[in-house]
Amino acid sequence: MKIRSHGCPVCGYPGIDVLERGDVTHEVCPSCSAESGDEYGGETEEDRLIELRRQWLVDRQGVWWSATVKPPMGWSPVEQLLEAGLPLPPVN
Ligand SMILES: [Zn+2]
Repeated sequence: MKIRSHGCPVCGYPGIDVLERGDVTHEVCPSCSAESGDEYGGETEEDRLIELRRQWLVDRQGVWWSATVKPPMGWSPVEQLLEAGLPLPPVN
């Protein structure tokens, strides 16, 4: 699969650029903490993204990660995923 350059492919947070002209940006997602170029790259398989998503949403209860960047008003991790068109991870 091909990862889009805008928005986090793990949690769907729209405010970061993860790829630039095919290269990873090493931006760290304030929502889920996944780093472009560390946890995933442009050619990362969907299974890996699903596992990262599961770790964030299930194991860590989808908590907002960054202490310096605040979540949008009324932020919800599930709504963020749905708005980004990303599937919810399996719960088990
Ligand atoms: Zn994220």
